[in-house]
Amino acid sequence: MSTSQIKLLTKIKLKIIIPTHIEHIGIAVKNLEDSISYYEEVLGLKCYKVEEVKDQKVKTAFFQVGQTKIELLESTEPDGPIGKFIEKRGEGIHHLAFAVNDIEGSLQKVKEKGVRLIDEKPRKGAEGLDIAFLHPKSTYGTLTEFCEKKS
Ligand code: ZN
Repeated sequence: MSTSQIKLLTKIKLKIIIPTHIEHIGIAVKNLEDSISYYEEVLGLKCYKVEEVKDQKVKTAFFQVGQTKIELLESTEPDGPIGKFIEKRGEGIHHLAFAVNDIEGSLQKVKEKGVRLIDEKPRKGAEGLDIAFLHPKSTYGTLTEFCEKKS
């Protein structure tokens, strides 16, 4: 049996997910414009897109760093999820997003292992990705997102 076959069998048996990479890191900020200046002028990254996600009450800005993106999140309303997060914990890392190959299957697997889901089913997120969140109470404090690019 080849190594890849053994790996595949192990994956099926253990029902683990094996994310392919970190798709993005979500960072809550008070002011998108100010923070974009920091990432561009201090770190030398280029903001390639600003996008509003209305149902999440956020404005987002994206930077590519290798395979991974930085997603800055500014609340458009104080009662939105990012507004509440900043009020409670201040600015900073908000969530960690893993790229997975089968988002529905991945959610099913973690659910079977007792992880609490925020999204039972994937929904549309920024960048045209299918996304779903796991509850931080089940992930040792880190709000965790799964993403799958379906196109
Ligand atoms: Zn995200």
